[in-house]
Amino acid sequence: MTNLRDRLKARIDAEGFISVADYMQACVQTYYATQQPFGVQGDFTTAPEISQIFGEIIGAWVAHAWLTSGMSQAAMVELGGGRGTLMKDALRATQTVSQFHERIQVVMVESSVALAKLQRETLAGAHPRVSSQTGIDPLPPCPCFFIANEFFDALPIEQTVQAEVRKIIWEHESFAFNAAQTGTIRERCPPAETLMQRLCAHLKTYGGALLAADYGHTKTRSGDTLQAVKNHRYIDIFACPGEADITAHVNFETLAAIATNQGLTVEVLTQGAFLQRHGAKLRLAALCKHADQAQQDQIVQGLERLMAPEQMGELFKVLLVVA
Ligand code: SAH
Repeated sequence: MTNLRDRLKARIDAEGFISVADYMQACVQTYYATQQPFGVQGDFTTAPEISQIFGEIIGAWVAHAWLTSGMSQAAMVELGGGRGTLMKDALRATQTVSQFHERIQVVMVESSVALAKLQRETLAGAHPRVSSQTGIDPLPPCPCFFIANEFFDALPIEQTVQAEVRKIIWEHESFAFNAAQTGTIRERCPPAETLMQRLCAHLKTYGGALLAADYGHTKTRSGDTLQAVKNHRYIDIFACPGEADITAHVNFETLAAIATNQGLTVEVLTQGAFLQRHGAKLRLAALCKHADQAQQDQIVQGLERLMAPEQMGELFKVLLVVA
């Protein structure tokens, strides 16, 4: 089988160029299917991999939303669950919520076969009803509590320059943007918008809530936000297609507007504010009580990374939608 670089080059040879969306889609799918993305040995570290408090607070948020929504049979649906760490922490934190585990099922929506397998292994024993599916269809016909951490940023964006698709061409033995296209770059993420419509329509019909956390902005702005990360460093997005994690900033204004237009209750806040408001510091104190000094240092540093404004606290936003 030819590698991704050759396949994309062949498309450029045939069609003259490929779009940013074509490039990103191919790179992201290959990347998650073939690489070891997470952790020290991998390319990047996500919030649930940094601190267990992240998944625990999200679990508590979901359980609270479920309690106030009438405690019916429901599903906890995670989109792009990575190694399954967030869901495992969320399930552990909600074990003592009366009736919650009995009445929910867990659905992991994951396009990577390798990560879906890892998620099943992580969650074995965490809950008796865990299922996996590669896309959101079919969604269980019941209230759903959707969770998405660093998921929307992996969906392929479109870039335009002067209302024309930004073109990726092949020159000097490498991919490159067409330098003839100059002017303000604008981004949109049609798959994120379509997915959000779908999830909100489900919330409207069946009830439930949604929590999405990601690197992004709360007001639409122009500019190029594509980035590639490998071995914990930023690299050129064209350097090694399919072997680096490519993401773009999430436009929370657009996602929030979709939910608002469906008549749902919406809030966007910084990750730091979300964790602060939902008791992360109290959870920290409780964890530290039973830890030795070295463990305490690790727990404190982990939460600091998630909450400090100069780290992930301000750059990451949390979108909360309640039916
Ligand atoms: N939520 C995890 C992983 C974030 S990485 C964490 O916080 O650690 C992005 C995840 O989304 C990966 O699991 C990746 O395989 C998955 N993913 C990317 N595009 C997807 C798509 N179109 N459909 C389903 N899953 C997708």
